[in-house]
Amino acid sequence: MDLNKKIIVIGGGFAGLELIKRLGNSKKHDIVLVDSNNYNFFPPLIYQVSSGFMEPSSISYPFRKILRNLKNVRFRLGSLEQLVPDENKIILNNGELKYDILIMATGTETNYFGNKNIEEKCLPMKTISDALSLRNTILTRLDLATRIENSEERKKYLTFVIAGAGPTGVELSGIIAEMSTSVIIKDYPELKEKDTGEIYLIDGQKTVLSSMSLNAQKYASKKLSKYGVNLVMDTFVEDFDGETVQLSNGNKINSKNLIWAAGVVAKVFKGFPKNSFGNNKRLKTNQFNQVHLFENIYALGDCAIMDGDKNYPNGHPQVAQPAIQQAKNLADNLLKSQEEWKPFVYKDKGSLAIIGRNKAVLDFPKQKYSLSGFIAWLIWIFVHIMGLVNFKNKIRTLYNWIGYYIYKDQSFRMIIKPNNLRKQLNGEKTYHNKV
Ligand SMILES: Cc1cc2nc3c(=O)[nH]c(=O)nc-3n(C[C@H](O)[C@H](O)[C@H](O)COP(=O)(O)OP(=O)(O)OC[C@H]3O[C@@H](n4cnc5c(N)ncnc54)[C@H](O)[C@@H]3O)c2cc1C
Repeated sequence: MDLNKKIIVIGGGFAGLELIKRLGNSKKHDIVLVDSNNYNFFPPLIYQVSSGFMEPSSISYPFRKILRNLKNVRFRLGSLEQLVPDENKIILNNGELKYDILIMATGTETNYFGNKNIEEKCLPMKTISDALSLRNTILTRLDLATRIENSEERKKYLTFVIAGAGPTGVELSGIIAEMSTSVIIKDYPELKEKDTGEIYLIDGQKTVLSSMSLNAQKYASKKLSKYGVNLVMDTFVEDFDGETVQLSNGNKINSKNLIWAAGVVAKVFKGFPKNSFGNNKRLKTNQFNQVHLFENIYALGDCAIMDGDKNYPNGHPQVAQPAIQQAKNLADNLLKSQEEWKPFVYKDKGSLAIIGRNKAVLDFPKQKYSLSGFIAWLIWIFVHIMGLVNFKNKIRTLYNWIGYYIYKDQSFRMIIKPNNLRKQLNGEKTYHNKV
């Protein structure tokens, strides 16, 4: 009798979860999902958590609950550290697991381009933990600013510099600008009379939203400028000492708040040979998502760079759709015999970015047409509600957004600082096991 194949999926983001949902009831496979968090989350909306417009639980959901009804899937909380391919084994931070098939879907991490000062002192925007720490920091600094008499010093706390003018940077500067004119004025009467801070959006490209159409770029630039955001393009952030942001054009901005949305890089794990990695440290794959040099290891989504899709010779964009579509294709293939496998071809479904209330941009596939303003904003809302992982989160988010639309206010602005969890959980590190 054939034994079930043991599949280990590392990472339950867009790609990992999509694959598991499709294979989870397959009688041919036993699947273990490994993730360093015990929840799946929706990165496109973390900027709303970081600005107190949404609660984290609206955009996240526990894996164990998602997986309840999938008979052949188990969840393992842990972080991948090393691959031992000769033994078909992976080493986690809390044990080891054996596999027949390994699927890497580990996404990316923030890229600081080797600048240690920036890494240490900036506020990154990649995970829910980043978003909560950004929220706590902004709120703490706003409160601090109310007690600072010296206007130059106060301005440092109220000035925000956002590095990276892709969709995340644009969305974040838009929401901070909206906060300045609505929430901050209402909640901090002490600041009203005094000089407020400024918002800067910095990017090395010549324009905001450089991957989108010219129409989208023009519309976003115009609306952000109208909001009072200073756009500093064709310029890099070179350094940051916690008080001053140094730019490549020689200018300096006095600010405590450097928010980093300037790039991502795939994670590198020990045990993969050097030539498995392509541009931006992504794992090189063929059109079946099979990692270069391996027969039973696959990579999906942001951490993979595929060779062979003729429309994308430099790999697919690191956004949600390629991750989801690759996962669907691989799941379908794994359910068939290998002779029937289909190579992956990406279908561009267009791109969206929101600038603020009633203002968004939409590029249709291949940027053939684009749309901006209210209709694009409604489509943005629909797409993002539908992208959330379960019905409750969809309803809760819609309710929050309607509330915000009517009252121009939102009230998730609590500074909640968890105790040092690592200290509390230290004793539990001894629960290592081998499977
Ligand atoms: C702020 C932000 C906004 C974005 N907005 C958009 C948008 O509007 N539209 C869009 O299409 N895309 C957007 N993206 C990009 C999109 O989120 C990614 O392209 C997508 O998440 C990639 O999916 P993935 O499954 O490859 O990786 P991810 O979704 O990143 O999932 C990776 C998973 O791997 C886990 N993991 C990582 N390392 C380990 C390890 N060592 N061990 C175990 N588990 C590990 C992580 O916990 C995570 O669950 C945004 C990204 C960010 C950061």
